[in-house]
Amino acid sequence: MKKEMPTGGVIVDPGSTVRNKTGDWRTFKPVWDKEKCKQCMICWQFCPDDSIPLDENGKRVETDLDFCKGCGICAKECPFGAIKMVREEK
Ligand code: SF4
Ligand code: SF4
Repeated sequence: MKKEMPTGGVIVDPGSTVRNKTGDWRTFKPVWDKEKCKQCMICWQFCPDDSIPLDENGKRVETDLDFCKGCGICAKECPFGAIKMVREEK
């Protein structure tokens, strides 16, 4: 039976990634220690999911857990030990 398939390489629903909460995939989550943080922004540069938001002064704030996949890169790269990965409780 012939089936209609959409053309490849076409974005049929622009902006849909905002609805796709990739944080649901996580096994570990980063816990940020605000007191230890020196605002060096290394974690922000390394986060592959753009899940470390900045405030109006360009300083990092709490991790966006809706989209953080828990890869642990931020915790590994933080030179001040301000991020720890802990198992996600679901
Ligand atoms: S764990 Fe990974 S995805 Fe989550 S904030 Fe850190 S670097 Fe970004
Ligand atoms: S890498 Fe560590 S010290 Fe630097 S901004 Fe991120 S949490 Fe803060």
